[in-house]
Amino acid sequence: MRIVFIGPPGSGKGTQCRRLSKHLGVPHLSTGEMLRWKRDNTHDGPMVAGFIDGGNLAPDQFVMSMVSCRISESDCRSGYLLDGFPRTVVQAELFDTHLDQRNGQLDHVFQLVASDDELIRRMIRRSELEGRVDDTPETIANRLSVYQARTRPVIDYYADRGLIRPIDAMQSAETVFANLLAMIETNE
Ligand code: AMP
Repeated sequence: MRIVFIGPPGSGKGTQCRRLSKHLGVPHLSTGEMLRWKRDNTHDGPMVAGFIDGGNLAPDQFVMSMVSCRISESDCRSGYLLDGFPRTVVQAELFDTHLDQRNGQLDHVFQLVASDDELIRRMIRRSELEGRVDDTPETIANRLSVYQARTRPVIDYYADRGLIRPIDAMQSAETVFANLLAMIETNE
């Protein structure tokens, strides 16, 4: 089971992936979390911080090699949930090449849909709880515009392949999760 979650910051990708990971027994891979770990623990830290702390995207090749290492590990053999990757069309193309070379394919690409007002409200609340450096008002605005410019085209990329499954992410986390499960189980 290989599943991709696409959605703007604050749309609930992390929340849904954590639940689904437990339910399906496959790992939840968040590129945001991987990058924050690299920022705080590796020699690449300052380079990574230069991109992510201001809400800009880390370089495509860098992210792809991080993801390809992780999905080659044994716990990903029966699948994985990708939270926040691919985030550009170049990443989607690199990922397709990676999958093709291994005769792999994606099962689902879920698009979480929510209004900007709701996203901003959720990110401001999260900043009070988690204190993420990229949840300031200026950086939130930048992340939303980066999403429109760089990540929205990824939705068209997968829609052309008939893979996109839009989900209303304005509902409660429980309702969104129930809808996700129904789509997976009926392969809708
Ligand atoms: P997230 O935790 O998904 O909100 O991601 C936090 C930040 O990490 C993003 O704002 C980007 O700066 C960076 N990031 C996460 N995933 C990617 C990706 N696939 N490509 C480039 N940058 C990413």
